[in-house]
Amino acid sequence: MSQGTLYIVSAPSGAGKSSLINALLKDNPRYDMKVSVSHTTRSMRPGEEDGVHYHFVTVDEFKALIEQNAFLEHAEVFGNFYGTSRLWIEEMLAKGIDIFLDIDWQGAQQIRKMMPEAKSIFILPPSREELERRLNARGQDSEEVIAKRMDEARSEISHYNEYDYLIVNDDFDVALIDLKAIIRAERMGEEKQAAKYHDMLDRLLAQ
Ligand code: 5GP
Repeated sequence: MSQGTLYIVSAPSGAGKSSLINALLKDNPRYDMKVSVSHTTRSMRPGEEDGVHYHFVTVDEFKALIEQNAFLEHAEVFGNFYGTSRLWIEEMLAKGIDIFLDIDWQGAQQIRKMMPEAKSIFILPPSREELERRLNARGQDSEEVIAKRMDEARSEISHYNEYDYLIVNDDFDVALIDLKAIIRAERMGEEKQAAKYHDMLDRLLAQ
């Protein structure tokens, strides 16, 4: 069995990244894909659950985890700390499970350096107007936070050219098909297929 693939997925807040990843995992009856649950020091939003959306920790707890080398990457985003657990990801990849990291461009840069085999996907909204409309429709953040997120969106989007794949999330269903197409194509890679069909290839090549 070959290692799972590590997918980095970044996008400005409101581009539909979490919805796309959730829809992808819901349609995956083989359970060979999982999303990593990050640690964060930001406060919980309505509807969020500890251990499901994030592991919510204090700044002191977060710093202790950095000291323990528990994070594959960590970064400060919108004034809060976020980090990706190292151990869980290494275990899952070793089991052949594909892992999705919903992280920002800073985390993506750190992961690429350490794991150049990781694949990165950037989700773009079709326009700034649509992005703002989606942030407002979510009803989770205050006007002030939304204005800040619109500012941050430009800086996040400016890193689009560091990614392997770009998906425009205009029509959600089309964007989901695009995401599935990337994963399907990655799984057809020679190395992965050769590991999966090792016995069949031996039989095909037998004299
Ligand atoms: P939110 O607070 O809206 O859930 O996430 C804010 C931003 O932090 C998003 O761009 C998200 O991708 C990013 N983020 C979430 N978890 C991590 C993480 O573990 N590492 C890094 N670098 N960014 C993260």
